[in-house]
Amino acid sequence: MKKSVSLVAMVAAACFVVSSPARAQSKLNVIATTEDLASIGREVGGDRITIESIAKGYQDPHYVEAKPSFILKLQRADLLVVVGRELEIGWLPPLIQQSRNGKIQVGGEGYLDASLTAQILEIPNGNITRAMGDVHPLGNPHYWTDPENGKRIAKEIADKFDQLRPNDHAYFDQRLNDFTTRLDTAEKRWLAMMAPYKSTKVVTYHKSFDYFLERFNLELAGTP
Ligand SMILES: [Zn+2]
Repeated sequence: MKKSVSLVAMVAAACFVVSSPARAQSKLNVIATTEDLASIGREVGGDRITIESIAKGYQDPHYVEAKPSFILKLQRADLLVVVGRELEIGWLPPLIQQSRNGKIQVGGEGYLDASLTAQILEIPNGNITRAMGDVHPLGNPHYWTDPENGKRIAKEIADKFDQLRPNDHAYFDQRLNDFTTRLDTAEKRWLAMMAPYKSTKVVTYHKSFDYFLERFNLELAGTP
C-alpha cells in the first residue's frame, strides 16, 4: 500500500515537471507597422516578446504593398502597434480585416495606436480629407523623429505589454525606465551637438522630419 502511494506521488511529481513548462507564459507575439515602432517595442519588451515590422525602414510607410504573408503574420499576433493618424490607411485596414484575428481589430485589446499620447504637429483646422490631396489629414504622423515622442511611445507600449502580460509588469517597467534614462542622456548629447546649427534652413523630400527639425531648432525651408 505504502509503495502504491509513493508511486502515485512520483507520477504526480512527474506530471508536474512535464506540465510546468507548458504552463509557462508564451512570448507576446507583437507586430508593428514600422521598424521605428518595432525598435522601441524591442527595447521595452526584451526577451518576453517577439516583434517584427510590416514596413521596412527603406519603404515609404504611407505606401506599402499589402502582401498575403502580412495577413499570416497578423493572424498569429497578440498585439498590433500602429503609427496611427491615418499614416497606414492606404494599406493596413484590409490586412487587419482579412487576418480575421479578433484581438487586433481596431478597438480590440491587441490593437495599439502609438500616437495616443504623442505630441502631434500640424493638426489642420477644419475638415480636411485625403481625398483633398493631403496625406496628413489628422496632423503630421511622422512624430517618432522627436525623442520626446519616442519616450511617450515607449510608455504607451509598456502599458499595453503590462495589460496583456501582467505577470511581466516589473520586467517591462524596468526596461522602460532603462530605455527612458538612456534616451534622456542621448537627447542631451544630441541637443549639444546640434546647438551650433540653430535656425539652419533645411529642405526635406517629404514633411517627415518636421518633429526632428522642431526639437533641434532647425527650420524647414520647404519640400520639393
Ligand atoms: Zn507623411
